[in-house]
Amino acid sequence: MIVAKFGGTSVADASALRQVDSVVESLLREHNPEGLVVVLSATSGTTSQLLDIARNAGSGRPYRDELDALVTRHRNIATELVGSPDCVAALVTSCREFADAVAVLGEWNDATLDAFSAYGELLSTAIFHSFRQASGHASMLVDARALIVTDDRHQQANVDDVATAAACRTVLASHTKVGSVVITQGFIAASHSGATTTLGRGGSDYSAAIIGSCLDAQQILIYTDVSGVYSCDPRLVAEASPLPVLSFDEMRDMASYGAKVLHPATIAPAVRARVPVHVLNTFRPAESGTIINASVPAESRMHAVSILRNVRTFSVPRDVGSLLTGNESIGPDIVLAITAANRHTICLHNVSPQMSALLDAMTTGHDVPMRQTCIIAVTGQGMTCPDITRRIAERIDAAARSAQTAVISDTCIVCVVDETDAENCARALHGLVTRRPDPA
Ligand code: ADP
Ligand code: ASP
Ligand code: MG
Repeated sequence: MIVAKFGGTSVADASALRQVDSVVESLLREHNPEGLVVVLSATSGTTSQLLDIARNAGSGRPYRDELDALVTRHRNIATELVGSPDCVAALVTSCREFADAVAVLGEWNDATLDAFSAYGELLSTAIFHSFRQASGHASMLVDARALIVTDDRHQQANVDDVATAAACRTVLASHTKVGSVVITQGFIAASHSGATTTLGRGGSDYSAAIIGSCLDAQQILIYTDVSGVYSCDPRLVAEASPLPVLSFDEMRDMASYGAKVLHPATIAPAVRARVPVHVLNTFRPAESGTIINASVPAESRMHAVSILRNVRTFSVPRDVGSLLTGNESIGPDIVLAITAANRHTICLHNVSPQMSALLDAMTTGHDVPMRQTCIIAVTGQGMTCPDITRRIAERIDAAARSAQTAVISDTCIVCVVDETDAENCARALHGLVTRRPDPA
């Protein structure tokens, strides 16, 4: 069994979907797997657009033009691939009815957003399934809500591993045979009561990893728009290059600190099931990409620099810090907490207005200046080695006006820097990554 996931740009339009089909056919030819599960994202930009439409409809703002544009885009892709938009007709009708109902109710909540944003993946998979059928290629469409079971924490649901493993095995039992191709949606799932939930933005990678680990897949292939996991986001650092192999630990650290090439939770199920994850380029499938697995060479070396933007950082006395980290609304969103000299430095990512209000309430009476920062993570092997920590400190001191550095583990060192210094720091640190270590 192989699980192959294709992201938003990989399914963005008719020509991208033709390319996905050709990759799927070569996987079947080259690997002859006992079942291939193809997990698709929504077409690029669609999830954000659906969330926008739902919020606008529920807040009494105009939404129909944006919805029309989205519908037209999908109808056109379907027509280009299969000669008619019929394969999306039922979904389009129910999507329109849903938006109108939200407008009539005049309100939305996280459950509404989940149910409505699901149309993105439902549309892309319906189109791809029809295209494969029309091309005479094997294809079976399975609703991911019959496979992945979660709690009801909408927008960021927690997966029930046991129920999900049972559902995946039962629903996909008859598809673990040579030649079988199952198409399913990434990102979406269902709660125990059957409500649509989602796994967080970028969650299709996670869906693929969950399904792959439940089915003991040989490998999980993540097809995206770059040729693997790079030493830094190639959009930020032009000299960044793909890393041929990465450990699970390093990848988890990179994804947690902003390397959006993989959803941060992706690695956990793959680690548990010891299924290697292979990151590849949909549009250059012959390039070797990055293999993420349990063991990598043990040489002490920096491999990559990642950058997590939009981080609010503040420092509070230790007792207040403990209250915040223990708070169930704030605690899970703390991406870094550093304790030094009786104070906690706390970093929160993507602080919502509600979170901001709660923070104000919990820190009343204390002077808590908030800084807009980024966290830069340098990942590799043997990161606790004094020579590596010294070099990182030197570079950061030269590139940032103020910085706080913390060794997280043997695979990760993080630096909190002001937002305005972040890109400079990332580039400066990337210079260390590409440099061979000095001879001992
Ligand atoms: P998909 O839609 O396929 O899931 P994403 O946009 O979520 O793709 O992730 C791919 C993008 O991640 C790349 O286009 C790249 O800009 C960004 N990225 C950030 N950090 C890295 C990195 N270290 N290596 C590769 N890509 C990275
Ligand atoms: N479509 C979802 C998103 O845009 C999930 C994904 O693409 O991985 O967040
Ligand atoms: Mg992604």
